[in-house]
Amino acid sequence: MKCEIRRISIFDEFQCAGQRCSINCCQGWKIPINHDVYMKYLHEKGLFGIMLRAFLKRGEQTAFFRSPFGRCPFWGNDRLCSIQKKHGEEYMPAVCVQFPRQLYNLSFFCEETLYLACPEAVKLFLECAYSDKSFEYHIIESVPEYEVNTTNDDKNFLDYLVKSRAELTAMLRDGMNFDSMAILDYGREAQSACLNMATAGGGLPSPRDYFSEECYTIGIEEINKLFFEGFFHPNLGIISMFLHKLCKKYVRKIGKLGKRNPKAADKKLCALQDDLYQKLPGLDKMLNRYFEYYLLTNFLDIYEDYSFTRCLLYGIVKTKMVMLFLALYAENKDSIDREEIAKIIAVYERRAPQMKDALKKL
Ligand code: SF4
Repeated sequence: MKCEIRRISIFDEFQCAGQRCSINCCQGWKIPINHDVYMKYLHEKGLFGIMLRAFLKRGEQTAFFRSPFGRCPFWGNDRLCSIQKKHGEEYMPAVCVQFPRQLYNLSFFCEETLYLACPEAVKLFLECAYSDKSFEYHIIESVPEYEVNTTNDDKNFLDYLVKSRAELTAMLRDGMNFDSMAILDYGREAQSACLNMATAGGGLPSPRDYFSEECYTIGIEEINKLFFEGFFHPNLGIISMFLHKLCKKYVRKIGKLGKRNPKAADKKLCALQDDLYQKLPGLDKMLNRYFEYYLLTNFLDIYEDYSFTRCLLYGIVKTKMVMLFLALYAENKDSIDREEIAKIIAVYERRAPQMKDALKKL
C-alpha cells in the first residue's frame, strides 16, 4: 500500500566512494543476512556456493557471515565486494545494499535518512552544516519496500513527537545551544507527563515552554567513565586502526583517573579543546548542527520506548564526546579539513552507541 515517505534532503545525493573509501563499511561489523538471501546462498552452486556456506553462520535470530579477520570475508583485496561483482546488488545481504541509508517505517509514514557512520554521508551533512542550509524532508508517495519497524500504533503520540522535534530543531536554529538545560528540562517533564497521561490523563508539554541559561556539563570523571566503560575496547583495532589510535592517544594523555590527578587530566582536556577551537573556528555551530541531525534521525525512537530523557541526554553526551575525538586528532596538526572531520565522525558513529549503557552510571 502506498504511504507518505519523508526523505531527508541529502539522501538522494549520497554516492558510495567504493574502492576510494578510507574506512570501508565491510570492516568491523557482523553482517546480518536476511532470510531470502540466506536461502539463495544455501542453494548457490559450484565453488562460490561452497565459499558462501563456509562463512555462513546461523545465529539464534539471524544468520551472518563469520570471519576471523574482523572484516567481511567477501571483501576483496581490490577493496570491492566479490558477491556484488559476481552476481550484482540483488545478491548481497539487504543491510549491505541499504547502508548508510536508514529506512524507518513508522506505519503511518516512513522516514529515510543517512546514517553518519559513512564518511560520504558525513560530507553531505557537513556541506549543509557549514553552508547553513536546513535539512528538509522531501515528501513522496510510494510503497515502502521495507517492513514496519514499530509496535506502537498511537498516531497522536507520533504526531506530537514530530511536532516537538520540529520545535526543538527550530529552537536550535534560532540560537539555543545543543547542551542547554532547557532541552533536558523539557525531556524530563515530557516523560513524566507521559506517565501521568497513562494514569490520570492530561497533556504533553511543548519544548517552546522551556528556557535556560545553564548548560549541561560533563567533567573529566564522567568523560573517563564513558570512555573506559563504554567506548573503549582493547580489540578496537580490529574494527578500525584509525579509531584505535585515537583511543590510545586518550589513554596515553589522560589515562584512567585515580592513578593520576583528575585536576591535571581536566587541564589537559581543556587544553586539547581550546586548541581545537583555534583550528576549527566554526566548531560550536557544527556541533549544534550535529545534534540537530541527531534529533532528525533519532528523536522518533521515543515512539517505541517513551524515553525522552535517555534519547535527549544521549544526544547531548554523544555530541560532547565527538568533540573529544576531533580534539585528539587535531592535536599536533596545523589544521583539520572536512575530509578528516568526516572520517573521524564516521568511525566515532560506529562505536558511540556503546556509551548508552555507561550513561546510566553517570
Ligand atoms: S562507508 Fe560509505 S563510502 Fe565507504 S564503502 Fe561503505 S557505503 Fe561506501
